[in-house]
Formats: sequence, C-alpha cells, structure tokens
Amino acid sequence: MTTLQNRIALAFMAHPDDAEFLCAGTLIRLKEAGWEVHIATCAAGDCGSVTENRWDISSIRTKEAAKAAALIGGKYHCIDERDGFVVYDKTALRKTYDLFRRIAPSLVFTHAPKDYMMDHEQASLLARAGSFLYAAPNACELPVREGSCVPYLYYCDPVEAIDPLGRPVEPTTSIDITAQLAKKTEMLACHASQREWLLAHHGVDE
Ligand SMILES: [Zn+2]
Repeated sequence: MTTLQNRIALAFMAHPDDAEFLCAGTLIRLKEAGWEVHIATCAAGDCGSVTENRWDISSIRTKEAAKAAALIGGKYHCIDERDGFVVYDKTALRKTYDLFRRIAPSLVFTHAPKDYMMDHEQASLLARAGSFLYAAPNACELPVREGSCVPYLYYCDPVEAIDPLGRPVEPTTSIDITAQLAKKTEMLACHASQREWLLAHHGVDE
C-alpha cells in the first residue's frame, strides 16, 4: 500500500535535459510545496555533440544537468549508461533499484511508455520496475530507508505529444505551470551545449 511519508519526488529520465523539457514545471511546483526533488538520467549524454568526444561531452552535460537541478534546490544523479544503449537489462535494473533505494521517492516521473526514441521507452520501463520493487527488502543490498514505499508513478507526455507513429497522445492529467515557466526556461538554458547540438543535428532551436 502506498503511503506518502516521504515528500520526495524523482524524475527518472533517459538523458540530461529530458526532465527539463518534460516535467520541470511540475518539479518546480513540488519544490515550492516543500518537496525534495531529484532528477536522474540513465545516460550521461555522450552522443549529444558533433564536436566533443564522448568523455568531454558527458562531463559537460552532467555538469549542465547538475546546475539545472541545483537551480531548484534539487539533486542530479546518473546511472551511467550510454546514449543509444539504454536497455532494460539486469545491469541497468540493478543500478535503478540501487538509485531508487537511496532516494526512496514517493512520487516518480518518467517518459511515456511509447515515445520517439528507444532510450526513452527503455528508461520508462526501468522507472516502472524501480517504482514497483525498490522498497522490497530483497530487491537489492542497500538498506531500506524509512518511508520507502511503492511510489505514485506518472508518465510525462511523449516528446511533441505524439506516439512513434505520429498519433496524438491525450494527457490524462494536466498541471498548470504558468507561474513556473520562467524558472523552467532557466533550467533548460543550463543545457547550453544542447542548443548547438539540436541546431546542428536536428536543425531545430528548442
Ligand atoms: Zn532524451
């Protein structure tokens, strides 16, 4: 049974900047309401560059992500998978359970189960598994923190609110983030390296 002893929210996403695009407004509102906020990514963003090698760009992007999280007093985590290689397998599951166990969230956000990129879908599966099992004592070796529970799990809209076949996806829950939009923009702006990358690779300026 779910209890809300811990006011701890975790956004578990595939890449640095996904949380800022997809659920930052809601995270800001939670922070304003007194919640502890965590942003985690599966990958360190090692493919998000046409100029830097993967070590350098990972370093840049994890720093950008940490800066964005710190803007709202949140903490950034990465389970150290690679861009384009996020898979629902035993290694990634183990790291996911460990992360969830350390954070002990009562509220989790992740990608829509169907999204344009496979990393997003696999991260969504990992978050779903982590949510269901992290509080089970035998799921991993780390101690079970007080207040651990099966958290509420919310799926963010898929990117551009369409599924992989281009069909619109209707949200079932909407959060008004009008008052949080400026701060969300500030968080997105922390990902300076990605503006160049999106322009160069996708031809878009987000
Ligand atoms: Zn992504």
